[in-house]
Amino acid sequence: MDRKEAFRIFEETGALQTGHYLLSSGLHSPQYFQCALVLQYPKFLEKFCSEIIEFYYEEEDIDLVIAPAIGAITVGQELARQLDVRFIFTERENGKMKLRRGFRIEPHKKVLIAEDVITTGGSVQEVIDIVEEARGYPVGIGAVIDRSDGAVSFDIPLFAAVQVKAVTYESDRCPLCLQNIPLTKPGSRQ
Ligand SMILES: [Zn+2]
Repeated sequence: MDRKEAFRIFEETGALQTGHYLLSSGLHSPQYFQCALVLQYPKFLEKFCSEIIEFYYEEEDIDLVIAPAIGAITVGQELARQLDVRFIFTERENGKMKLRRGFRIEPHKKVLIAEDVITTGGSVQEVIDIVEEARGYPVGIGAVIDRSDGAVSFDIPLFAAVQVKAVTYESDRCPLCLQNIPLTKPGSRQ
């Protein structure tokens, strides 16, 4: 999918919001991206996921898809559906990422890691660690959006259907603050 089409979808679904936002990094931004607003439409979820599958399909015989809860669950489930393999997810328990509900990764299984938005890459790295601890083989990461602007790196390949560079400002150098535009803190509760 070309960027133009991707941005048309983001605008159509209201996923790319403009205003004055406080990001979790502490930086200010004129944009906030709410991926869940795109993924609420199965046709768009299916489309983005088919691009991820196309990237990995030739190379790897994937046995299993895994995703960190919550935002990436729909991505992982759709990837698994298209691959016709099992899907499991990790959850935080007292802050630590874990497999619960009896989910298992058998040794030597090839595992694709799903994510909705890559920002700092922290959750993805924790999932990779879980796969490796179980002696599984993490083949790569498939994300819908990469907002890291190349700032994160992993030991395994990363493919994102769309790259969206985040525009950010330091809080003491923010032009939106100078214009007295109210600052909002977006989040999953939004
Ligand atoms: Zn600001």
